[in-house]
Amino acid sequence: MEAKLKELRQKLEKQCQVNQELQNHNQDLEKRLKEKERLLEELQSRLDELGGQSPRESNDGVQEVRQSRTAVMALEPIPEDLDIQATKVKKTASERAQIIKAMGRNDFLSRLDEEQISMMVELLTSLDRCPGDEIIKEGTEGDSMYIVAAGELKVTQSGRDLRTLTSGDVFGELAILYNCKRTASVKAVTAVRLWCIERQTYRSIMTSKSKKKREQLMGFLKTARTLKALNEEQLSNIIDSMEEVRFQDNEVIVREGAEGDTFYIILKGEVLVTKKVSGQQKVIRKMGQGEHFGELALIRAILRTATCTAVGEVTCFSIDKEVFEETIPIESLELHDDSELENTDTSEKERLESSLKQLKDLIPVLYQEGRYQGEPVTLGLGGFGRVELVTTLHHGKYFAMKKVSKKLIVEKRQGPHVIFEKRILQDIESDFIVRLHAAFKDTRYIYMVMEFCSGGEIWTKLKEVGRFDENIAVFVAACVVEAYSYLHKKNIMYRDLKPENLMLDSKGYVKLVDFGFAKELRRGQKTYSFCGTPEYMAPEIIQNQGHDFAADFWSLGVLVYELLVGSPPFSSSEPQKIYAKILDGVMKFPPYMGEGARSLINKLCRPRPGQRLGNTKNGIKDVRHHRWFNSINWHKLRMGQIEAPTVKLIRKGPCYINFDRFPFDKTQAEEEFSGWDRDF
Ligand code: ATP
Ligand code: MG
Repeated sequence: MEAKLKELRQKLEKQCQVNQELQNHNQDLEKRLKEKERLLEELQSRLDELGGQSPRESNDGVQEVRQSRTAVMALEPIPEDLDIQATKVKKTASERAQIIKAMGRNDFLSRLDEEQISMMVELLTSLDRCPGDEIIKEGTEGDSMYIVAAGELKVTQSGRDLRTLTSGDVFGELAILYNCKRTASVKAVTAVRLWCIERQTYRSIMTSKSKKKREQLMGFLKTARTLKALNEEQLSNIIDSMEEVRFQDNEVIVREGAEGDTFYIILKGEVLVTKKVSGQQKVIRKMGQGEHFGELALIRAILRTATCTAVGEVTCFSIDKEVFEETIPIESLELHDDSELENTDTSEKERLESSLKQLKDLIPVLYQEGRYQGEPVTLGLGGFGRVELVTTLHHGKYFAMKKVSKKLIVEKRQGPHVIFEKRILQDIESDFIVRLHAAFKDTRYIYMVMEFCSGGEIWTKLKEVGRFDENIAVFVAACVVEAYSYLHKKNIMYRDLKPENLMLDSKGYVKLVDFGFAKELRRGQKTYSFCGTPEYMAPEIIQNQGHDFAADFWSLGVLVYELLVGSPPFSSSEPQKIYAKILDGVMKFPPYMGEGARSLINKLCRPRPGQRLGNTKNGIKDVRHHRWFNSINWHKLRMGQIEAPTVKLIRKGPCYINFDRFPFDKTQAEEEFSGWDRDF
């Protein structure tokens, strides 16, 4: 009996043990299942962001290598004297309705504001075409946008039918932003009637409208007593931070006795001011365009002393106390002292420059092995030329030499940009910006001899690993902040930030290259050109509202996003869709993105330029102090004393190992003698 009991107990114990093991195993499985689920969720959300496409695959499942993105630019200056009144074309109510409906259905046009839309409606001209007429031709440069009023047209691409257009359809809309090649042809099938607008007309209305609006607002602000002590630049900054708000008839804008923290200027409509006197609402006065209320709320917390109600529809421009405080006083903008940045060793510099006296002193470096063995090394191809690896006889150092056809520069009207690029780079002495050691020209090319960044492009590295670990992204962005700090202090905007323009040196430090779009701008001024790379453009550039240094901070936000995610926040294969998304401003963050990064990106990518981190009263300091950069010791970074986490991305081998390989181009550019390069 005893023995039996013992045996039973042993059996029971064994069973318990097995149970325990099974349970452990189950828990383990459950944990792994949960992990898989989380991974799946993360992948799904990335997939959603990419519009249902996996990163490297296009619709038809063909592997597609992401091409580096080219920058775009509207080249023509905006005519100052366009007579808008004379350009207006009368339209019937039903024609207007049809046009507005058509614009509302279009991705890009539907994002324009009401006033911009009504301006466009006024300025569309009508065009009649016969069956068979070609309206736009694939491959040519276009400058007009069309809306079909009546008839039928056919869209073809390389001879293939793509679709049919009928009344209410819009085509060619990208051309009103900048000159780009048409990607398809459009032919009339029947007799057609079209509404049409040219780029120059569109740009000048957008620009003149925003210029006028600024002038008007400036006038309004100057009459505000509380703002009397502020100078023009500060007022301009306030305007940049203000937002348009609309109120319906009878809507109460501020209520007596309520806490107030917003200041308003009336742009359109009337506002009734009333006050409670012995239990009765008493009308104090009526205010109209240009008048403002709530000034005191900007200075201290107050209870509203009157009620303001909209009479009819009212549009105001408003600013909150919190935002106002970030904007003013602007004189403390960028107090940081970067003088220690300029600690280049002059003797080294002089030695270098004296060894680079002539173009013929430079000899091409050749590929040592592989397909192109024996051919000169090409480091990269840009929109206009190529960058080759060269060295000198005595010195043995490597240089990157940018070589651009003069003929092409003239054709693309890039002369002033090239000259400015050289001028800026020559003056720059920052460890976060590529150095220009010499510049030459002959009858066919201009040459810029730059420091060689042997680590390759950040773009290539990002493509290789998909997305960067946070510490790498922080380091890369911190180097860009240093470059910005240097440039902005010299009143230079960069305007073409993207991973393609960031290079790694041998230590893994990041440097800005490509100053083709950089521009000098006085504080408080705006510039109105349309330029940049679509994915990185700030909304005010797209809308031709005039932009400034704040646009650089927007693109910094986009860069941080792309470094962490592997693709930019606003992307599409069609530029107009990218622009539409930027104007919508809806950014989706993948679940793995940390809270610090989200906060920084949100603050850098605020739609109102005056509210963007980096462009408020403490300037770039606020960016440096953001918690996402907590791990960066800025002083050490500037002194080159931080060990760059990016070194692990750099491959070891021949000096060109970190670059894609390109075949040598044996053709020679044509000669060019127009003399644009006198100052180069
Ligand atoms: P785009 O305006 O179309 O971007 P670009 O003609 O102005 O092009 P860059 O962007 O200046 O040309 O250079 C083209 C490529 O050459 C770079 O993306 C990079 O790969 C390589 N490159 C440029 N400068 C250097 C450098 N200093 N060291 C190493 N490689 C370089
Ligand atoms: Mg470039």
